[in-house]
Amino acid sequence: MTSKDALAEYRRRRDFAKTVEPEGRRGGGPGGRPRFVVQIHDARRLHFDFRLEVEGVLKSWAVPKGPSSDPRQRRFATRTEDHPLEYGDFEGVIPKGEYGGGTVIIWDEGTYRSLATDRRGREIPFAEALRDGHASFWMDGSKLRGGYALTRIRGGPGGDDEGWLLVKRNDERAHSGGAPATPARARSVRTRRSLRQVAAEESAGDSEG
Ligand code: MN
Repeated sequence: MTSKDALAEYRRRRDFAKTVEPEGRRGGGPGGRPRFVVQIHDARRLHFDFRLEVEGVLKSWAVPKGPSSDPRQRRFATRTEDHPLEYGDFEGVIPKGEYGGGTVIIWDEGTYRSLATDRRGREIPFAEALRDGHASFWMDGSKLRGGYALTRIRGGPGGDDEGWLLVKRNDERAHSGGAPATPARARSVRTRRSLRQVAAEESAGDSEG
């Protein structure tokens, strides 16, 4: 499957004449380590969008409570459609009435490296681990650091209803830097703006023409 095909579902859900989200170009080709981004999305229900760069797209999960830094806190994550790499730069307001309408800020970003192994402990490609339903990785973000694991607990690859758990691994980075208890007041790691400020600045921009 090419990365263009991988974004078919993402594009099908959006009208790019109306939304300000990126349409997604083909390829990208990571120069160095793959990126991750965690956005806070004030949609109908506020949630975190957890995205890992894999094979030229952002593999994505909606995480209602966001990633925890406590290994005992297992966070439910629903798989969402692959997003284009440029989506990792998106901060702004998706118009009401469009898919996912609401304000988005970039809460954390950085790079990650795969810790994926098979049952015998041999390294396997990260994409393969995700398809198999269990992938571990080390995050180097501004807020999220250390080992995490994603494990599929419901549904199959490509199904509509994939449920996963996102869990902090028990390492020296446990208990530091998890998602805030009040995400509505959190600030962008890039611009230091809150959701409210982003929304206010965008509506001010509209009235200026
Ligand atoms: Mn979202």
